Amino acid sequence: MELNENADIDTSQVEDQRGSGGGGGGFGGLPIPGGGGLVGIIITVVLALVGGYFGVNQLGGDSGSSTGDNTNITQECADKTTARTKLDCRNVLYVNSIQAFWTEAEPEYFGKQYQPAKTVLFSNRVSTGCGAADSGVGPFYCPADDRVYIDLTFYQVLAKQLGAPGEFAQPYVLAHEYGHHIQDLLGTEAKMRAAQKGGSEAEQNLQSVKLELQADCYAGVWAHHATETKSKSGQPIFKSLTDSDIQEGLDTAKQIGDDTLQKQSGGTVNPAEFTHGTSADRQKWFKAGFDSGDPAKSCDTFADGSVVQGD
Ligand SMILES: [Zn+2]
Repeated sequence: MELNENADIDTSQVEDQRGSGGGGGGFGGLPIPGGGGLVGIIITVVLALVGGYFGVNQLGGDSGSSTGDNTNITQECADKTTARTKLDCRNVLYVNSIQAFWTEAEPEYFGKQYQPAKTVLFSNRVSTGCGAADSGVGPFYCPADDRVYIDLTFYQVLAKQLGAPGEFAQPYVLAHEYGHHIQDLLGTEAKMRAAQKGGSEAEQNLQSVKLELQADCYAGVWAHHATETKSKSGQPIFKSLTDSDIQEGLDTAKQIGDDTLQKQSGGTVNPAEFTHGTSADRQKWFKAGFDSGDPAKSCDTFADGSVVQGD
């Protein structure tokens, strides 16, 4: 994967809430997931307006009202000779590419206008429309305020604790979160919440698995089209994307499958508790999206009878 050094980086699509000293693309402290282990922390969509959902460090007060300060990141990413060596600037470009894709694809495949969603960069803790969260929960999408939240140190957790060190893990994670935004815009997320109502825990988890696998499929669809995406000024964002990048995406999908995470955290594999899908299914759906490039045709995990709890 090579990024185009001539592509301008649109930092208005992110909101930098990392505070002073958090910039520069450096790594801060490594967030260590709490006693619950690694299961369930990974790239999720959170239920809106449930105080205490995250179970950690409730901040109270100004939920989602912080606006951040993009001065540093905008300056940093404006320097074309160094921007592409910086973690945060590269991630802004991934966000630019993913949103450029959906701006065209949502009308084309679903007949609906795309609404942009910002990615909030935070360190350690953040206050959101879905409640307060800390880094241990991993990146997530909040439907209540239409934002993706990520502490970039998560990529260290991904590389060192979860065994997915490839660079392409990063756009895969972001594209998965934007997949949840698409589900929010299309009403899929609301439909899925309605379908969960009154079901057993296992049935509710199955609905969650279908939602998550669809987000993986949407990530694959973006990957299919990534090299076609352009920056604000019309420059291609990627110079190249290779088979080994896609393999890194598949490797990431494998490392964050529920069964793999359950094994890694030392527990037994319990399919009824799956919320994101098995390693095999996560790979399968990412690949389905990547192979076809058509989100309407290839990503209907809800209609696909092969998605069952514990297969
Ligand atoms: Zn998710």
